[in-house]
Amino acid sequence: MSDDIIYLDFNASTPCDPRVVEAMLPYLSDTFANPSSRHHRPGQDAFTALEQARSTVARLLGAASSTEIVFTSGATEANNLALTGAAEMRTGNGRHIVTQVTEHPSVLEPLAHLQKSGWDVTELGVDSDGRIRLDELSGALRDDTILVSLMLANNETGALQPVVQAAVLARERGALIHCDAAQAVGKVAVDVAALNVDLLSLSGHKLYAPKGIGALFVRRSRPPLRLVPLIRGGGHEYGLRSGTPNLPGAVALARALEIACADLEAEMGRLADLRDRLEAIIVGKLDGCSVNGSTTHRLPGTCNLSFAGIEGNALLASLPDLAVSTGSACTSAHPQASPVLLAMGVASALAKASLRLSVGRFTTANEIDRAAARIVEEVSRLRLTRFSHWVS
Ligand SMILES: *Cc1c(COP(=O)(O)O)cnc(C)c1O
Repeated sequence: MSDDIIYLDFNASTPCDPRVVEAMLPYLSDTFANPSSRHHRPGQDAFTALEQARSTVARLLGAASSTEIVFTSGATEANNLALTGAAEMRTGNGRHIVTQVTEHPSVLEPLAHLQKSGWDVTELGVDSDGRIRLDELSGALRDDTILVSLMLANNETGALQPVVQAAVLARERGALIHCDAAQAVGKVAVDVAALNVDLLSLSGHKLYAPKGIGALFVRRSRPPLRLVPLIRGGGHEYGLRSGTPNLPGAVALARALEIACADLEAEMGRLADLRDRLEAIIVGKLDGCSVNGSTTHRLPGTCNLSFAGIEGNALLASLPDLAVSTGSACTSAHPQASPVLLAMGVASALAKASLRLSVGRFTTANEIDRAAARIVEEVSRLRLTRFSHWVS
């Protein structure tokens, strides 16, 4: 990456950790055989490595058995498999599904598709912290509710949803619970047994493994879930995801989880300190700056800020030296405010004037200080420019 650009977009993607690259390299060249070719030794070696990776992922997520882990191409595929697979499996039990408005498009779009095919989908709103209200969830659950889908951490604000309590409510009504944990795994403790979820999605490239690998946890006990697959073929991954498995990716995902879990508490503290430092400098030096989303129930490394009196796209354009995200879609001539921020009740103008800053494993305090100074400088300059337009 260009040395002079400060990368504060770890929620969008992370670089591979060098230890992850080292672990996966042998599986690109030496141990390259098809894990299904178990009639020869190279195939057996590949199979053993794949199952080793699966059991590591299962153990680190708190799964009861490695057969509960299905490798996918990422969290988008895992979410699609979980939602359509569970819906089709449970058609006989009812056709009602509950989710909430700030879910990732890879949850909302498959559900919108199911809705067109006759399922009834309830989208809960969120409060100004970006969290659902449990009494609203309780009120939305019906006898024919088959599934609840609730993310653990929001990608734009880092807001954490009350998944443990939601799982209790869902189970009481006989509904399955799916959790999109793509932003949470590797950043906060994630344990499928403690969360008491039936299905949980994760993504490699959000936790220092490569793009193109992810996993879905599928509960196999009390009783086992028999999801309907999305991708049919040779019956790989317990019949849930056909196609020759991505062995280097699976090894990388397992190694990435090991690294994240080994140092989780300390890294959570370090990331929260960096994030708080960034926020404190910016909020301390600029008037009309607000933090979007919960500041108590939040991922350690994420902050989402709105700046009154400017436009997010103008700010992004004036900060080519920072890799950050804005809450507005910057591809169009007329920027659209982030649906996540609007759902939280943030005014449209403020939602368009927002930045998401996400710090990660390789972020330094020096980068935080430089980035904060640049944001303060450009917001102040843009506000002055606007003001001089008004007076002239
Ligand atoms: C990134 C992300 C996804 C999609 O993950 P991919 O592996 O890129 O498909 C899904 N949900 C959330 C919350 C995410 O942040």
